[in-house]
Amino acid sequence: MYLKNSKKIVIKIGSSLLIDKSKNIRIKWLNEFSKDIKELLNKNKKIIIVSSGAIAMGCKKLKLNKKNLKLDKSQAVASIGQIELMNLFNKVFSKNKINISQILLTLDDTEQRRRALNAKRTFENLFELGFVPIVNENDSTATSEIKYGDNDRLASRVAQISGADCLILLSDVDGLYTKNPKLKKNAKLIKEINNIDKKIEKISTNGVSEHGTGGMKTKIDAAKICQLSGCIMAIANGLMERPINQINKKNNCTWFLPKVSKLDARKKWIIGSVSPKGELIIDDGAKNALKKGKSLLAAGIKIVVGKFNKGDHIKIVDRNNKECARGLSSFTSDEINKIKGHHSSNIHDLLGYITKSEVVHKDDMVEI
Ligand code: GLU
Repeated sequence: MYLKNSKKIVIKIGSSLLIDKSKNIRIKWLNEFSKDIKELLNKNKKIIIVSSGAIAMGCKKLKLNKKNLKLDKSQAVASIGQIELMNLFNKVFSKNKINISQILLTLDDTEQRRRALNAKRTFENLFELGFVPIVNENDSTATSEIKYGDNDRLASRVAQISGADCLILLSDVDGLYTKNPKLKKNAKLIKEINNIDKKIEKISTNGVSEHGTGGMKTKIDAAKICQLSGCIMAIANGLMERPINQINKKNNCTWFLPKVSKLDARKKWIIGSVSPKGELIIDDGAKNALKKGKSLLAAGIKIVVGKFNKGDHIKIVDRNNKECARGLSSFTSDEINKIKGHHSSNIHDLLGYITKSEVVHKDDMVEI
């Protein structure tokens, strides 16, 4: 049910689903998985895949053992393996007529508001073009201090910045159990978790875990991020064929329910803890457009107050100084001073370079 109600879904697959213990590529599995993706796309869902496997694929090609790799070497190996990984996806997904693209992210891309906004826009444009973005960490340049380190946390950040409704972490266990299912027969799968309390934390660090890089602890960290982003998250077993279909049919997984609505989370993110850096005074036409949920265009802007940067939080006020909205600016205050009052089609000539056409995009704005 949760999956059916979700329009934008992020699915994370770990290396162990792509490559088995004997280092063979699980091509049949990937083919079945791509059928799942096709089915979701046919239902008009927007899909982002977060896939690990760059290092594993690189090791396979170079006949190296992952365990013996030092960080700098593993970064080179990831650079070699990432191409192998995408070639694999391309080969399998194109058979099912799915277009894919690659996005490599570093921690700053999701932690810094401006870069996160940019990444969000790229996701949206890829959806419009009919492509499925496949995301991995940019392992080749990230150093240990600026690494997500595991793709569970990366996937939850991707879900957050893309405004996804649902994140599925496909793992090699069904979900979170009350006890270690390998040791205790009476262990029960926990179907839904509202609150990640001490009991849940304890189970997750007590060895009831999968074999992948992250383990259960990083999945719980990912769930915490999702709960505060208004995104529902599942830990599900990906080892079977058509794993997404199985979730739909059997619901044999652990769901973490969000604590806030997606809209509230986004509002909080936009308004944030930092105070607005500036103000835009707009005309009545623009005010009416905002009320109808439209973006703010340059034509409706009368006065720019303050000095701010792209991605900064600004106030939007009417001519009587009444606040209408808050939003994140896609332009600097200097740029807006040059383009205010002008039609969007003139922005290119006025600034001398290609930019976005909305000064504050509707997705980055909340009405006050
Ligand atoms: N980004 C790493 C890779 O593609 C994997 C990280 C993880 O396994 O969570 O090899």
